[in-house]
Amino acid sequence: MFRSLHMKLTMIMLMLIGSQMTIVGTFLTTGVSGFYMNGFYRQLNSVFGPDQREFVSDLRSAAGDDDGAESLRKMLEANAGPLGIDYHTRNYFVLDGDTGAWLAGSANADALPMRQSLNLTTARAAVARGDASGVGDESYLNAEYLDAAIPILSDGHAYIIYILDNQETLSGLNRQLFHIILQSLILGLLITALLSFLLAKTMVGPLEKLTAGAEKVAAGDFDTALPVESTDEIGILTGTFNEMAGVLHTTLAAMENERNKLDTLFLYMTDGVVAFDMSGAVIHCNPAATNMLQRKVEAGSRYDELFGGLFAFGDVLALKRPRHAEGEMMVGQRTLELLLAPFSHQTLGGVLAVLHDVTERHRNEERRKEFVANVSHELRTPLTNVRSYAETLRDAEGSIPPDTSNGFLDIIINETDRMTHIVQDLLILSRLDAGNTEIAFTRFPFQEAIESVVRANALNARTRSHELSFRAEEPLPCVEGDRNRLEQVMMNIIGNAIKYTPDGGHIRVTAGLTPDRKQVWMDVWDDGIGIPEESRGRIFERFYRVDKARSRESGGTGLGLSIAWEIVQRHHGTLSLPPHDGSGTTIRLTLPVTQKPEVAAP
Ligand code: ADP
Repeated sequence: MFRSLHMKLTMIMLMLIGSQMTIVGTFLTTGVSGFYMNGFYRQLNSVFGPDQREFVSDLRSAAGDDDGAESLRKMLEANAGPLGIDYHTRNYFVLDGDTGAWLAGSANADALPMRQSLNLTTARAAVARGDASGVGDESYLNAEYLDAAIPILSDGHAYIIYILDNQETLSGLNRQLFHIILQSLILGLLITALLSFLLAKTMVGPLEKLTAGAEKVAAGDFDTALPVESTDEIGILTGTFNEMAGVLHTTLAAMENERNKLDTLFLYMTDGVVAFDMSGAVIHCNPAATNMLQRKVEAGSRYDELFGGLFAFGDVLALKRPRHAEGEMMVGQRTLELLLAPFSHQTLGGVLAVLHDVTERHRNEERRKEFVANVSHELRTPLTNVRSYAETLRDAEGSIPPDTSNGFLDIIINETDRMTHIVQDLLILSRLDAGNTEIAFTRFPFQEAIESVVRANALNARTRSHELSFRAEEPLPCVEGDRNRLEQVMMNIIGNAIKYTPDGGHIRVTAGLTPDRKQVWMDVWDDGIGIPEESRGRIFERFYRVDKARSRESGGTGLGLSIAWEIVQRHHGTLSLPPHDGSGTTIRLTLPVTQKPEVAAP
């Protein structure tokens, strides 16, 4: 009920007026009562006070009369005016000094108070003591009446003059005052209600507008600025509120922007990010993390389900910056590097997990090790041969027949050639890997290049009694590429077909255009020894050979197809093993007719 400022203001003002009126009323009635009482005693003093000794002694002598009470009454009647006797509210009585019984007075005995007044008791005690000096002048403000008792002693006679005021005048006055105060109070309350209404209009009105504005801002509506209608504190407050809303808007927009940036970053970054709150529940997980973990990670999923096996959540949370926990975990075939760190120690903090797929790195590392081992192995074999034949020649000291020693020297030369080949091939590969090999793109007739390679292999094929043929399915266009290097690729493929086909075999080279006419292809088909199923995916690997002994015998290094693969890659083409019916192998080369503008030569 008193929630609104308006009501509060009204109530405060009403209470203020009420309390003011109560205080004024209390002071007024007390003051009036005091004034009335003082007046009563002042009047008594003016008749019986120390300055009126003569009158008092006259009273004493009158008291000595036979009908002393009547004499006293007459004298008092004569002073009725100064004593303020009005016979209604104030009366005088002449009482018996011993018994206090009514003898005479301006009213009869019925007007006397029912209970004995203090003053009368004191006066009677004074009479009993024979002491007539005291004049009772005590009274109580809240007594129902005012009174004074004056003992009058004469020889053998004792009277008490008793003046009694029943305070009816005072009560009437107080009643009057109460009515006036009540009327003022009602009027004051009415005026207060009116004033509070006006106050509400001038003060609470703008505040209500401000509240409505604040509610709009809280609901996210920053468009409407509040009108500043005054220059007072409320006007300043409205202006400041508008400024604050503006700053808030800008800050929120900046935060929103930041959040969007972060969201985009999380969405597209290749590293996985999972955020947990203080209780270990997932609050954010980006698509990369979902991919890497190969499971659906929903908001609310628990830390323990995901990484509990690596580090306890509490331990990670207790880490102090910049410390973090690092580990690796396997998910299916993939190796994930995991980095865990607390992102705040406040109640709103939690733990951030960053996932990095290191499968490829590990694989590369493995390949590198395997490659180094292969290179060492490939070089060690011919080196061992060279060394042993050279040692034999040295130790024989000319005892070996010249034919045999020449044979040894031939082997040494062959092995050296082999090593030279390996080193040359490795050099080519490492240049291709480093991107240092200059690929001279030119436009050349594809068919002509195949024909020239087939021609170059014709003698070799004939030596092995192979039937080597070439057929283009349609006239082939020119292609963009490095003719020398592509011929090297073709040479390797056709050479392999000759090498890995037993004597008297068939090697068929065919070429054509893909249906979209954007690519040319060349198939080299043979009916040779073929490639076992398990090796088909590996023949482009460095140093991979299906049959090491056979390959070495035929002078193969196991690097030819890997070099070919790299060259073709640089031309945005492919090398593949299409299905082959029967024994033998088909190897397919495809190349784009035109290279992308950024790689093609002018
Ligand atoms: P190499 O110098 O040993 O010939 P390559 O890289 O050219 O090395 O070939 C890799 C391996 O692939 C060969 O060792 C061989 O086992 C296999 N290979 C390549 N072409 C053929 C083919 N036409 N028929 C059978 N096996 C082949």
